[in-house]
Amino acid sequence: MSKGNIGVTSDNIFPVIKKFLYSDHEIFLRELISNGVDATQKLKTLSSVGEAKGDLGDLRVRVSIDKNKKTLTVSDHGVGMTAEEVDKYINQIAFSGAEEFVQQYKDKAEAIIGHFGLGFYSAFMVADKVEIFSLSYKEDAKAVHWSCDGNPEYTMEDTIKAERGTDIVLHLNNEFPQYLEEATIEGLLKKYCKFLPVEIAFGKKKEWKDGKQVELDEENIINDINPAWTKKPTELKDEDYDKFYHELYPMQMDEPLFHIHLNVDYPFHLTGILYFPKIKSNLDVKRNKIQLYCNQVYVTDEVENIVPEYLTLLHGVIDSPDIPLNVSRSYLQSDNNVKKISGYITKKVADKLAEIYKNNKEDFIKKWEDIKMFIEFGMLTDEKFYDKAVTFALYKNIADEYYTLSEYKDKIKETQTDKDGNLVILYTNDADAHYTYIERAKQKGYDVLLMDGELDIHIMSQAEQKAMSESEGGQIRFVRIDSDTIENLIRKEETANDNFSDEQKEGLRKAFESILPTPEAKLRYTVTCEAAAADALPVFLTQNEFMRRMKEMAAHQQGMSFYGEMPDQYNLVLNTSHPLIQEMINKETSEQVEEKVEKKAEKEGETPTKETIIKTIYKLEGEDERIKQLIDIALLASGQLKGEALAKFVNRSVELL
Ligand code: ADP
Repeated sequence: MSKGNIGVTSDNIFPVIKKFLYSDHEIFLRELISNGVDATQKLKTLSSVGEAKGDLGDLRVRVSIDKNKKTLTVSDHGVGMTAEEVDKYINQIAFSGAEEFVQQYKDKAEAIIGHFGLGFYSAFMVADKVEIFSLSYKEDAKAVHWSCDGNPEYTMEDTIKAERGTDIVLHLNNEFPQYLEEATIEGLLKKYCKFLPVEIAFGKKKEWKDGKQVELDEENIINDINPAWTKKPTELKDEDYDKFYHELYPMQMDEPLFHIHLNVDYPFHLTGILYFPKIKSNLDVKRNKIQLYCNQVYVTDEVENIVPEYLTLLHGVIDSPDIPLNVSRSYLQSDNNVKKISGYITKKVADKLAEIYKNNKEDFIKKWEDIKMFIEFGMLTDEKFYDKAVTFALYKNIADEYYTLSEYKDKIKETQTDKDGNLVILYTNDADAHYTYIERAKQKGYDVLLMDGELDIHIMSQAEQKAMSESEGGQIRFVRIDSDTIENLIRKEETANDNFSDEQKEGLRKAFESILPTPEAKLRYTVTCEAAAADALPVFLTQNEFMRRMKEMAAHQQGMSFYGEMPDQYNLVLNTSHPLIQEMINKETSEQVEEKVEKKAEKEGETPTKETIIKTIYKLEGEDERIKQLIDIALLASGQLKGEALAKFVNRSVELL
């Protein structure tokens, strides 16, 4: 028997490992099983080149627990280790500057563990004592028994072991009784080992029989050693991809919309399958995530920084040995391989979408509502993706027809180009609420888009900006259908003019203003006169596109709270082309009016109040009810008449009848 001190430069490594135990200690199981799998794979390779002789026999890696002895054992039939190898690989953790490194990363044990091959030592996070029993595949090898109880001292001696391979025995610390529970271990195995390339067995298969579980003879194999992503796309049918999807997410009932098989060898290695899921609610988005593997070993489902953010909403797996796993997130972001990987994934996803749009437009349109969010999110956050996505990102009009932006521009070019050569795109976010506005647009032969998605407002701004920076093609402007009179939204020639003087209009404006309902705190109405179409409503509301959009953006964007605080501004437009309004406008000149007021004041011997002046001057005496009614109609037409005001309107309407 030999004794010695573990070669990690000092006693430092154990405290660090123990410290790590307070965060992610469960990874010890992944580390030990990965070692067993590696040893098995090595043996297969050696055998294939004739260096390991004979039949390899049973190659399963087995995990077992012994509640009485409080041990957990991982056994493999891989290459095994000779005493020299144990000494070299386990006793002397060979890396230079270990002490320095350990000091530096005391708080980030994960970095140490992955980075410097301390995988095996992670066993000490949960065990007081760890033993190795190993028999090398080499001819005439002697079995070795190594034991260490968590301080840098170990013992090593010859032992008797019949089968080739390695058993790692963990004497679990009392603080971790959970690792003696079958359910816990099975859960961890399912999490980390589900797709390992060597069979992992844990206990026996169980079956329900007569209301209770009975053990079968067969071993309980945890993993699928040939998961779909490791195969060639040509070997797989659509059903196979769907089947794998459910293997990956057993709780997910819906079929994915489509899949993208990733496969690169150069300049980095990456395989995987991404799925566009059918999303029913935001909850689904959070529940299933893309899983990251390294040579079929599960690493994490936090793939931010590796996959572009908008694609983290997809489902599936990515497997790459070239992603540095145990480094900080900020480091990941600056890593060149990671940048390339992220760029590659973006390109693949965009190409696939473009391909479906080109070859199977109908199917693409059917899926559009489900994939829209990913695509719009991508367009807004990734220039490169945007450039590809403009060719398949769709806009829907109120007649349920879908167009790409350039198709749509062609469609409306003739009718909706204004006198300055700008293309005006009309949209609504609520076709019911904007019914009257939409009807007016239709009468003019205009088309209206339905833009009711969460990101649509940003998509519109982006499209406008892009059009502005493109030299040819001219500018485009999105305007919500209720943001002005239709004549003003798409100006064809100089605005139609009425024949009223500013003073005359001012009078009517004031009269309406004096009767406007006192608005709520964050609501403002401005009254304007416009010569809209004679058959448009006499009075209607519009809301400035720019202000409204800024406010909407402010609602979900930081640093824009200034706009968020602004009141909602509406224009109450008095349509001076409408007979009713024309009738209400005072036709008299201002001199005639002033004269009248003076006379009235003389007669009554008092200064007339503001209201009586307005009413007298502008012949609106007795018009209160009519003005109220008109204002309410405008409010009603844009969905703003509610509660008591609505009830009053209804009663007043009945009275008027
Ligand atoms: P890593 O696996 O990252 O190299 P580990 O500390 O987990 O670091 O293991 C160190 C070395 O010990 C391995 O590279 C391997 O040579 C050897 N080793 C560990 N476990 C086994 C095993 N089950 N069978 C054979 N060799 C093993």
